[in-house]
Amino acid sequence: MYTGRFAPTPSGPLHLGSLCTAIGSYLRARSMKGRWLLRIEDLDKQRCSREAADSILRTLELYGLEYDGSVIYQSRQIEQYKEVIRNLKNRDLAYECTCSRSRLKSIGGIYDGRCRNKAEAGKQRISVRFRNPGTVCCFDDILKGRIETSPAESGEDFILLRSDGTVAYNLAVTVDDETEGVTEIVRGADLIPVTTRQINLISSLGFRIPDYMHLPLILSGHDLKYSKQNHAKPVSDEDPAYMCALAMKCLGHMLPEDLNRAPPQEQIAWGIENFSTGRIPGNNQTVQY
Ligand code: GLU
Ligand code: ZN
Repeated sequence: MYTGRFAPTPSGPLHLGSLCTAIGSYLRARSMKGRWLLRIEDLDKQRCSREAADSILRTLELYGLEYDGSVIYQSRQIEQYKEVIRNLKNRDLAYECTCSRSRLKSIGGIYDGRCRNKAEAGKQRISVRFRNPGTVCCFDDILKGRIETSPAESGEDFILLRSDGTVAYNLAVTVDDETEGVTEIVRGADLIPVTTRQINLISSLGFRIPDYMHLPLILSGHDLKYSKQNHAKPVSDEDPAYMCALAMKCLGHMLPEDLNRAPPQEQIAWGIENFSTGRIPGNNQTVQY
């Protein structure tokens, strides 16, 4: 059965971009008569809060985006992730890295694999990295077709477990999508660059590779990605009809005139009925609101 999901990081309330991702993945799942799961990716204690998670849940409810089953909180599954990391280490598919922050900074963006064969003994700072075979460096996106990433990016020995004990997003997302039986991942185009490295991890773990559909990013008039990092306007719960219609428009699904002020539930029902991947714009969308 088609199984999709929405996996927000609760570092703040939803903004237009994340609302579009929620609605896009919802319309896709429901138009496929599939399941739609909700997962709160709250592993990063510094950035995430319970309040933000609750606010996201409230907003989804207000828009009539009903998830199947119960909400998964990643922060409650740390032991499962650590178990997978232990297994990878036992199979020599992961290794300890003791490189200092300053060394990592000096080599620039991509890790050079220095600790692959032996980490420096006696070091305090230990993180765990994936021994990435780097076999996969492209994938077929449902909207964008074949996408290639550089071998350096797709084959990087990325971090699975940070030195402060935090489980990394790339590991957790891979485990959860497999465990929850996700067949298709619909998410923002900002995650295109990590998709091939995730596929390499999925393959090493012997998991099933899902299909991928990356939705256009929503940019402001000043060409900034709408995100919490640059203080994107949160989706206020005041005028859901307006915001829902705007989000649908960003996804290429312009509502008929008489539905523009209708309750979001009615707009979403129209969206499910009329959903087509062909309508979704390939390029990022610039919006002012
Ligand atoms: N938690 C990620 C985010 O909020 C999304 C992860 C994913 O969909 O794979 O950007
Ligand atoms: Zn290292």
